Amino acid sequence: MRCSAPPQRAAGCTGPAARRTQPLLAAAARHQRTSRPHSRGPAAALAPPQRRHRRPRVTAAAAPSAATGAADASPADAGAADAVADADAARLLAPAPGDAALIDSLLATPLPDLMREAARLRDEGHPRVVTFSPKVFIPLTRLCRDACGYCTFALPPAPGRRAFMTLGEVVAVARLGAAQGCAEALFTLGDKPEDRWPEAAAELRSMGYPSTLDYVAAAAAEVLRETGLLPHVNAGIVGEADAARLREVSASQGLMLESLSPRLAAPGGAHHGCPDKEAAPRLGALAAAGRVGVPFTTGILVGIGETRRERVEALLAIKRAHAEWGHVQEVIVQNFRAKPGTAMAAHPEPPLEELLWSVAAARVVLGAGMSVQAPPNLTPAAEAGEEEAGEAWRALIDAGINDWGGISPVTRDFVNPERPWPHLERLAAATAAAGKLLLPRLPVYPRYLLHPEPGRWLAAGGGASSIGGRARAAADGDGLLRGSRWFAGAADAETKAGDGDGAAARPRGEGGSGGAAPSGAAALSGAAASAAPPAGRPASPAPRTRPGAGWSIAVGPSGTLEGAAAPAEPQPEVAALLERILSGASAGASGREPGAPAAPRGRAPPRGAAATLAAARAAAAPAEAAHATPSEAARAGVELSEAEVALLLRARGADFDAVVAAADELRARVCGDEVTYVVNRNINYTNVCTYSCSFCAFSKGKGSEDLRGTPYLVPLEEITRRAAEAWDRGATEVCMQGGIHPDFTGDTYLRLLDAAKAGAPGIHVHAFSPLEVLQGARTLGLGLDAYLARLRSAGLGSLPGTAAEVLDDAVRATLCPDKLTTAEWLSVARAAHGAGLPTTSTLMFGHVEEDAPGAWARHLLALRALAAGTGGVSEFVPLPFVHMQAPVFLRGGARRGPTLRECVLAHAVARLVLHPHITNIQASWVKMGPERAAALLAAGCNDMGGSLMSESITKAAGAAHGQELTPGRMEALIRAAGRAPRQRTTLYGAPPPGQVARSFGAAPLAPAAAVRAGAGAAAGGVRL
Ligand code: SF4
Repeated sequence: MRCSAPPQRAAGCTGPAARRTQPLLAAAARHQRTSRPHSRGPAAALAPPQRRHRRPRVTAAAAPSAATGAADASPADAGAADAVADADAARLLAPAPGDAALIDSLLATPLPDLMREAARLRDEGHPRVVTFSPKVFIPLTRLCRDACGYCTFALPPAPGRRAFMTLGEVVAVARLGAAQGCAEALFTLGDKPEDRWPEAAAELRSMGYPSTLDYVAAAAAEVLRETGLLPHVNAGIVGEADAARLREVSASQGLMLESLSPRLAAPGGAHHGCPDKEAAPRLGALAAAGRVGVPFTTGILVGIGETRRERVEALLAIKRAHAEWGHVQEVIVQNFRAKPGTAMAAHPEPPLEELLWSVAAARVVLGAGMSVQAPPNLTPAAEAGEEEAGEAWRALIDAGINDWGGISPVTRDFVNPERPWPHLERLAAATAAAGKLLLPRLPVYPRYLLHPEPGRWLAAGGGASSIGGRARAAADGDGLLRGSRWFAGAADAETKAGDGDGAAARPRGEGGSGGAAPSGAAALSGAAASAAPPAGRPASPAPRTRPGAGWSIAVGPSGTLEGAAAPAEPQPEVAALLERILSGASAGASGREPGAPAAPRGRAPPRGAAATLAAARAAAAPAEAAHATPSEAARAGVELSEAEVALLLRARGADFDAVVAAADELRARVCGDEVTYVVNRNINYTNVCTYSCSFCAFSKGKGSEDLRGTPYLVPLEEITRRAAEAWDRGATEVCMQGGIHPDFTGDTYLRLLDAAKAGAPGIHVHAFSPLEVLQGARTLGLGLDAYLARLRSAGLGSLPGTAAEVLDDAVRATLCPDKLTTAEWLSVARAAHGAGLPTTSTLMFGHVEEDAPGAWARHLLALRALAAGTGGVSEFVPLPFVHMQAPVFLRGGARRGPTLRECVLAHAVARLVLHPHITNIQASWVKMGPERAAALLAAGCNDMGGSLMSESITKAAGAAHGQELTPGRMEALIRAAGRAPRQRTTLYGAPPPGQVARSFGAAPLAPAAAVRAGAGAAAGGVRL
């Protein structure tokens, strides 16, 4: 069957179609305005349907049993729970102002117009991406106390057949999914079968579980612990106490409302004989999940005898629940498919047009931000042929969906076993044909996963192993599935095979699975062996896997599914933006020596740090610098909005390729083929710190003694020795930073500076983060200008632009709440530039950001404004978060650092956004690994940073790199990337020829000395 509903795309159209949608738009807009969080006041006028019988029910007040942990309820509690559910249902069913008008408009609007409006809304909330959840389906039990007329999932007990899968079988199926890169373990089961079937109750007793809910909680915990898959639990009607208990071991829970029509419970109706399908218990379960903070999936069934009006009434009830608790993460619009052997086998199936109307109505009712899903294996016409399926899926996208739901490469849809899930390649191709990118997601949606309070929606007890910790570790910056084994700080060799941020739509046997789990066939055979049931026990309900499904999940470095179709062209707005940047940059790239920033606005000739930088470059390239006269266009560059920068930082696929190519082109214009590096030494004089930055594994202070290493202070004479040794080995810079020791004052930093200069008078001291400068000035009671002048007079050459992390106070409130604010950091940098001290600039990213691209965009624009105003920023260095030993990661509150795509974009977008004010973009080999850093030279970078004779901060965080990249190795890497190496000074000048000569073939470092901090440390260490 072909779809007759035309795809619609004409945003901003003012023709007849647009005029036809005016009443709908007006009704929808009025409804959005009047749909405020629901009142908790008196029960609404519409009474819930009469309950035909009462059941024991778990309530919020019901305490878990001490012996079993099971939530139990007395008859009195059950009565109270029923009353709560009735009140919830009454409130959620009560019509709000505007409902009637919205329903009338929806019913009156022609389908093409309705779809156009739905697609417009979807594009507003979900502009480019359509998601799916790669999963395994775990039918823990197929016994059920209900008997719905359309269901083939529920089976009666049979002699010799177990009622429940064993834990071993459950874990074996989950391992199959993990091996293919899945993220979700979907637990679907019949509703409380022990209430109806003695066999179920007996088997639960024999396994030591009082109820099915106890068993599903245990099984979910086992899957989480053994495989890392994130459970999503559909356990039927669940009260508050059980929802809260399941929340500890699941990323999300779900229950389809299906329909709230009481007519369907009458004899002959789809819900006849199914007390759990009444409105009150289902709305009560929806409300219970909301009260305990469970990200929740629900939805409607289309075509089981309900009317369009009744469908919209169910959607409105969902909308009211979400307005009250904010917990509805997605709404499934699922069409009825008749199954042989059921009471509804002869019931007509809804045609595609009916499904399209329902999807579009759901989008208009629920708004732009809600995820609206339609299962692709149930699509009418999907089984008719590839072409028909593609057209029908395209029509669903045009009707406003943004998600395909769960799809499995290894297990079938046990609720609809006759309808196999489509191969990922086909779904990706259909999605791409609609101009959208198909991407894998987690079972929990980004807004819950990336919430700044880690325990608000996902349980965090248990740290990195908790459900919250595991979910965040699996996520990228958009809150979608990371799909890659690469992370910052990993050894190159560990991640090469799969950085392939994994392996999607790839035939089995080619390897490259996305997770740490064994790949493809080997994993499958191992899992199959462990899936064997215990001897003597038949494993009847154990799921059979889908032979030949043949795909697995891997997200490639450009952020798309490997091996799957994606839109071939960049989005017009991305292409136009890049064109604007490059055309504006062309004037600015001429007339200056390579790597030189534009003069600060309104300041010519340069002063302060800008003059310092210009002098250093003049020494390196006097001929070019003598006639460097940046044009007005060069001074201004191209101003970008936060939204435009964020658009570039979100790039994937063709957009990503275009951003990287533009960055490389601009780098070539501005810097040529030259790639610079500096020979330097890090000296971290103390790791004692009074601050408690949650990402920092380096510092030792209150509460961090358990982290690696011991507290230390480096003696002043050792600093002198290290500086002298560095000079002897060809260094032109020592980089000095440390923790904020409680006894350090501004004089301490001056003594540290003296000590370094005493060892190597000619060395450039690049030292003291803006936080340390602020600390030094405060402890001496000096203003910033005065203290910076003292530091400069004492020989300080420049400041590292560290302690910036993300210059966004919302992120800092979680990441480093007691550290200096964004405004303070910028004011120190500005003051340093005014004092003639250039700074570098950094971004430490990929950890706790709720809106990662937005926060990074604000950061880049803040740096751009700083550099444009002062001309004092010598370079920009993206520093990907290294997670392994970071406290915030170990507590389960952070991601595993940025993905490779995010790292590449941080460098490429910086090149485009910071031009022409910061023209040196550095790749950090310590964070990225030497080979990945060299690869970044094709993404806008022109600098490889320092050789770093000794580094301890990144190594403390667990990174594999950090111990000196010699000039010989550095230059070999650069040449292998097709570029020309040049050794530089800190400020991009030319190093003395003698130092360059010394830097090649330097002797090994002597052992370093430090003393343990604590009693007596001051005597042997830094003199305080
Ligand atoms: S990042 Fe710096 S200020 Fe923060 S805890 Fe670590 S050493 Fe201290």
